[in-house]
Amino acid sequence: MNNPVLLENLRCIPDFPKKGINFRDVTTLYKNPECMKIMVDEMYELYKDKGITKIVGIESRGFVMAAALATKLGAGVVLARKPGKLPATVIKESFSKEYGVDTVEMHIDSIDENDVVLIHDDLLATGGTAKATLKLVNHFHPKKVYMNFIIEITDEGLHGRDCLEKDVEVTTLMVI
Ligand code: IMP
Repeated sequence: MNNPVLLENLRCIPDFPKKGINFRDVTTLYKNPECMKIMVDEMYELYKDKGITKIVGIESRGFVMAAALATKLGAGVVLARKPGKLPATVIKESFSKEYGVDTVEMHIDSIDENDVVLIHDDLLATGGTAKATLKLVNHFHPKKVYMNFIIEITDEGLHGRDCLEKDVEVTTLMVI
């Protein structure tokens, strides 16, 4: 169920970063204390009994709620970053985007087999970014993996959830 306060406060920017793209700008949720509380409370309710030990935040808008929720759950935070940003040894996964290829990297010692992992990002569109991150996380053979997004886009013929759901339980706070 879409929370009306979140819906009201989400800013949409037409034609960003290029013509034809309707960009959902979550910075208007992050800057609003009421929205932050709603989001962290909803996520806490979803994951409080799952034994989550690590939250993987996807660069960069995924870092915000990963950190906020980790504090409440008593979990650690792991960064999934664009190439060349992490200083120690990394593992990486590349994936195709509409134009070209992108890569996501994680530190090789960031997760272990005893972890229960929640992967979080601000938005699920085609699912390419999330699927590549899921592959990386599975490389560590954690006990269990969950995925969460603030926004799931379905109104543009997108079915990102379909490419994830057979492998992992996916939750989203808003479906647009
Ligand atoms: P996907 O890989 O196509 O699912 O795109 C999701 C990734 O692109 C996430 O990391 C998002 O942060 C980013 N993204 C795509 N569209 C938007 C948008 O409208 N608003 C914010 N982020 C977006």
